[in-house]
Amino acid sequence: MSRVYNFSAGPAVLPEEVLKTCAAEMLDYHGSGMSVMEMSHRSKDYENILDTAEADFRELLSVPDNYRVLFLQGGGNTQFAMVPMNLMKNRVADYIVTGQWAKKAAKEAEMYGKVNIVASSQDKTFSYIPDLSDLDIHDDADYVYICQNNTIYGTTIKELPNTKGKTLVSDVSSMFLSEPMDVSKYGVLWGGVQKNVGPAGVTIVVIREDLITEDVLPGTPTMLRYKTHADNKSLYNTPPCYNIYVCGLVFKWLKEMGGLSVMKERNEEKAKVLYDFLDASNMFKGTVVPKDRSLMNVPFITGNEELDKKFIAEASAAGFKNLKGHRTVGGMRASIYNAMPKEGVVKLVEFMDNFEKNNR
Ligand SMILES: *Cc1c(COP(=O)(O)O)cnc(C)c1O
Repeated sequence: MSRVYNFSAGPAVLPEEVLKTCAAEMLDYHGSGMSVMEMSHRSKDYENILDTAEADFRELLSVPDNYRVLFLQGGGNTQFAMVPMNLMKNRVADYIVTGQWAKKAAKEAEMYGKVNIVASSQDKTFSYIPDLSDLDIHDDADYVYICQNNTIYGTTIKELPNTKGKTLVSDVSSMFLSEPMDVSKYGVLWGGVQKNVGPAGVTIVVIREDLITEDVLPGTPTMLRYKTHADNKSLYNTPPCYNIYVCGLVFKWLKEMGGLSVMKERNEEKAKVLYDFLDASNMFKGTVVPKDRSLMNVPFITGNEELDKKFIAEASAAGFKNLKGHRTVGGMRASIYNAMPKEGVVKLVEFMDNFEKNNR
């Protein structure tokens, strides 16, 4: 068996220790004589897995008591609809568009009401984060929406927008649990776990209790109401049991690593290795404004498409996988999530350095 360095944006690398635990527990979970995959979601064993996962998640992110944590399905794209269906009481919302995912979310919300784009960085291919300190927030807006880490473009909103008292909704998919967050600043934050937290199939929603109401848009399906899942502790129907179990193992791993402050330091150290190299290189260049750089997704280019292709092919052959940039932007992108060891980034930089010397 040999493992590669997997720089995929998602589904993405998971901690090796977690995968080993999955393997060890595959046929017989803690003496139950069955796999977690085979368990009733109403069994004591499973209830314990779910409760522990939620408790560990709450501890890691310091989720205040007046917030609920929901384990849902349907991926990030379902939240693009669920957010307006549940929160757009006035049928107005303000969206900050800093990349494709925020753009898609805004487009989906347009099906339910008036969407104001109050800031955008599309003029420069989403290579920066606009100033969000004094936006024209609408008085009748039900919420202000952001995508906090732009997986495709490699930027992060580091200073939250001044929402002028409006509820902040944030898609944190590709930075989930990569650093501490002040949950109390948000009305809702949510993430698909397949970027940084677990296997595809689970979306974790953290929502302030007062936003969970019966008062949703007419026609909102039972499954798409936050209240349905909050009232039933994420067990209204069969949840993605196995995937939640794996997320739970990742939470344990994060706690053993020292929690989110330690993860942030590690992630900063790791990203610095790559960004420092990009800043010094004559061949490779980062594509975004340095102050807005993501710690998780690092896009870069050579400026020559043929050379990009050659680099991606040679890197792949050398065991550095999935470095191709998103199909809409080209170039390269290294996603260096929590589970990517620093060694992986150091070795990638060595490889890039050699490639540069050999292709001058
Ligand atoms: C991947 C991603 C999504 C979409 O998630 P799906 O689960 O594929 O629907 C949404 N937002 C962000 C920031 C993402 O990175």
